Amino acid sequence: MPPHAGTGLGARRREACETGFCGANAGETRPMDLSEDAFRFADDLGPAKIIHVHEPSLGLKGTLVVDNVATGPSIGGLRMAPDVSTEECFRLARAMTLKNAAAGLAHGGGKSVLYGDPGMPLERKEQLVRAMACALADVRDYIFGPDMGTDEVCMAWVKAEIGRAVGLPREVGGIPLDELGATGFGLRAVCEEAARYCDLELAGARVAVQGFGSVGMHAARFLSQRGAVLVAASDSRGAISDPNGLDVAALMELKASGRSVSEHPTGKPLDREALIGVDCEIWIPAARPDVIHEGNMKHLKAKLVASGANIPMTAGAERHLHEQGVLCVPDFIANAGGVICAAMEYHGASQAAAFEAIEEKIRENTDRVLRASRERGVLPRQAAVELSTERVRRAMSYRRWSIF
Ligand code: NAD
Repeated sequence: MPPHAGTGLGARRREACETGFCGANAGETRPMDLSEDAFRFADDLGPAKIIHVHEPSLGLKGTLVVDNVATGPSIGGLRMAPDVSTEECFRLARAMTLKNAAAGLAHGGGKSVLYGDPGMPLERKEQLVRAMACALADVRDYIFGPDMGTDEVCMAWVKAEIGRAVGLPREVGGIPLDELGATGFGLRAVCEEAARYCDLELAGARVAVQGFGSVGMHAARFLSQRGAVLVAASDSRGAISDPNGLDVAALMELKASGRSVSEHPTGKPLDREALIGVDCEIWIPAARPDVIHEGNMKHLKAKLVASGANIPMTAGAERHLHEQGVLCVPDFIANAGGVICAAMEYHGASQAAAFEAIEEKIRENTDRVLRASRERGVLPRQAAVELSTERVRRAMSYRRWSIF
């Protein structure tokens, strides 16, 4: 709770602050002292800057958080949604600092959010995205990427305005990471490395994928190339399971035609939420945050959870699963394939080189984190955070101050 929330003077001050102005006397319109709130996210890693942009004639409202740029200019997605917030933007920017450092990229962490419904008429969306890019044109230590609510076309608009974006269409030098399945490809590398730590053979391993979208479907496709068997999959409209195996290509076709995985001709339709209890060795969350939580964690039967989604489990659930012997590879290690691909694209690498880098970096990091976790008896997440922050701090030591 902010220090000035509560009753009495504090509450009145908060009320006044919410109007945008604080003054000792009613009617006074002196800008408030925001210093308390403006620095509420500050710690020794960042954020280096938080910028709010506003253009009333367009209805543009957006925020950029550049968290830590000691390792290089930040890369992070532009998220568009009606209910984004500065706090969400900061948390995502920090996650990018950790993810990019863990992946050994010469890029720091940043994120931007644009307030609005991403399903708005395309012309209006284009106007907002172009204006957002122009408003941040001078912030050269932030490189735009796609995120929820934005895509490669939005990145092409950004690139056309300010010359700085990743996740671009092929025609302007992009490597279409979602179409190719860069993150799903990285998840296979995670499973191959992690298998050695949880007594698992990939050939024949049963896999359940929650969220059969860009990440989930390609994870299933790449894993099936190693003999793993997809036994259950879900999307926002339902789920399907078949202990004898589902046809990954048929499921991908269903999704491409706008239908749900639950319409797969064989197998048993399931309630979406029942996916967690499916008998399998590998469980891949690739949809929403906090899907494994204290209320359902005991139903999970897998040996390995490889996180495609960001923050797919609560901290309590992660600890519980670890204590039960379930190996959970943290999100910012496991799902880094997309950003590695984006960074390689930015530096002009070919598609083949980008995929080689994903394989090499993800294998090395997964092994390093799981080895440290085992040797020191700590959660893989703790080992991963330590690995990342150590890299960030080392980079900070080369700067004149720390993050500047
Ligand atoms: P996407 O929109 O392509 O796919 C998401 C899928 O999840 C869809 O099939 C949707 O129907 C399904 N879904 C939504 N709610 C669900 C629910 N409650 N239960 C089951 N399924 C549900 O998105 P994506 O790009 O695949 O991203 C998925 C997750 O992975 C997100 O958390 C994203 O932040 C994270 N991520 C994506 C990338 C990337 O390269 N695209 C990289 C890193 C992390």
